[in-house]
Amino acid sequence: MAYKKTEHYDEATTSGLMNNYREVLGLIGEDADREGLLKTPERLAKAMQYLTQGYQLDAMHILNSAKFHEPASEMIVVKDIELYSMCEHHMLPFFGKAHIAYIPNGWITGLSKIARVVDVYARRLQVQERLTVEIMNAIRDSLNPLGVAVVIEAQHLCMMMRGVQKQNSVTTTSAFDGEFHKIPTRDEFLKLISSDLSRK
Ligand SMILES: [Zn+2]
Repeated sequence: MAYKKTEHYDEATTSGLMNNYREVLGLIGEDADREGLLKTPERLAKAMQYLTQGYQLDAMHILNSAKFHEPASEMIVVKDIELYSMCEHHMLPFFGKAHIAYIPNGWITGLSKIARVVDVYARRLQVQERLTVEIMNAIRDSLNPLGVAVVIEAQHLCMMMRGVQKQNSVTTTSAFDGEFHKIPTRDEFLKLISSDLSRK
């Protein structure tokens, strides 16, 4: 899913962040006045607001904005949703894919809305475990489906660049609700997201 670029930045927030980032540059041993860094505090201030815009977004509003009555009761799976977030412990990125399924109970929502809900919670300071559960809860509360399943596979730069330097480890988290507590339903979902049908 493509990321929509939001270009609205709060002026007071931007200037507050810029002042702090200038200081950070000095503290790490840089010269904030050298040419290459002159605009860095402003760029970083805007990037940080972009990366945390999820705080301003409302998942229920997004899901309910394209909610349709529909008698379908087969599992709906949206897999390989690109995900970029930041860990709340180091404010370093973690990124990967989310796979989401739900079994409707009279209501469905637009497939793109499912992907947007991932952004709502990913564009905040997060831990992968909570991100997984928050996405599940939003879909459950909006659509009241027979079941919801969320699996996230992600790589964490705080592990890859620092600390243990486990360069290729992937963290997988999952959350299941309703029908997905039943082993056959869960197995069908896991089989669907691990199939290679749609992969290049
Ligand atoms: Zn971290």
